[in-house]
Amino acid sequence: MTHPFLDLPPLTAARFAAVEDRVARLLGTRQDVVIMQGEALLPLEGAIRGTAGPGTTALNVITGPYGQTFGNWLRDCGATVVDLAVPFHTAVTADGIRAALAAHPEIDFVSLVHAEAATGNTNPVAEIGEVVRAHGALFYLDAVASVGAEPVLPDAWGVDLCVIGAQKAMGGPAGVSAVSVSERAWTRMAANPRAPRRSYLSLLDWKERWIDTGRTALPHAPAQLEMLALEACVERIESVGLDAVTARHRSAALAARAGALALGGGLEPYVHEAADAAPVATTLRVPPGVVASELVDRALASDPALPLAAGGGALAKEMIRVNHYGADATVEAVRGSLAALGAALSAQGLTVDLAAAHRAAGSADSAGR
Ligand SMILES: *Cc1c(COP(=O)(O)O)cnc(C)c1O
Repeated sequence: MTHPFLDLPPLTAARFAAVEDRVARLLGTRQDVVIMQGEALLPLEGAIRGTAGPGTTALNVITGPYGQTFGNWLRDCGATVVDLAVPFHTAVTADGIRAALAAHPEIDFVSLVHAEAATGNTNPVAEIGEVVRAHGALFYLDAVASVGAEPVLPDAWGVDLCVIGAQKAMGGPAGVSAVSVSERAWTRMAANPRAPRRSYLSLLDWKERWIDTGRTALPHAPAQLEMLALEACVERIESVGLDAVTARHRSAALAARAGALALGGGLEPYVHEAADAAPVATTLRVPPGVVASELVDRALASDPALPLAAGGGALAKEMIRVNHYGADATVEAVRGSLAALGAALSAQGLTVDLAAAHRAAGSADSAGR
């Protein structure tokens, strides 16, 4: 009996290389793209462990939970870490980065998250890239939550290590991920005695055993289901057009922000400035007396398919996430989410205006197109 995802033939090296090339085109990069056989945390950790060591001084920008994780990995590698944390309701500025680099001229590595689905902010990577390049530091970027939702341009921005995953705005699987690696980054890794080798975390293994040998023989059997899904996902983006996919996310974000403001009931955009709000997800602050996780549970009881979540960890009390990415990057998903949140707020005795939210979401959506 044939089955859609059982008894698959092994994925060939040629097919694997072709998927890498398509991902490189999606990122507009001429750098090497390595597809890693695991969720995005694999290249995120592998790139840090490959490039950082006791001789490294890293500027680690914290605009959400992932920045905290990167700082911990950097410290674990023996790097000296300068943390630059900004409140989660805002974004970091290029001036802020410039000041940090001026205060610590020894910094030779900068880690940054582009957009944070967990906090709903996005950072101005193009401007920051100019500052980092002028300083000469290696630039590491987590673009997992931005790719597909807004432009991600490692070459134009001077990003040396750009990590993406397919599971957010690309609408793909979480089981494979990719990183583009600049020549500078390869050189840094080759000179790092602590860079993982003969290890699942090793990017250098992929360089030596795959890229430098002409990509003809895979070092181990790839996760073929996830690779096929990644291929299908890139194919779909190519056929619709990357610009159309990012426009759909931008429209959904505008609709969510405007709709939430019009809904009332004490809900407010968590990210204060619209310019700092990520196209991938909109975060909302609940009014005093409301517990975000409980409100989300009630909203999801009416429709479990809505793209709603409470903030992670300590944010669960105060933050709601509208995860309008992938298939949910539509004004319908946003309207459904706001209606369910509105009903849940109203059940708590708060006054909401559903019709106004519906209208505001619609006009913001069409303005965004
Ligand atoms: C989603 C995301 C990741 C990947 O982490 P998962 O929670 O395992 O999906 C990494 N970085 C950022 C900024 C993300 O938003």
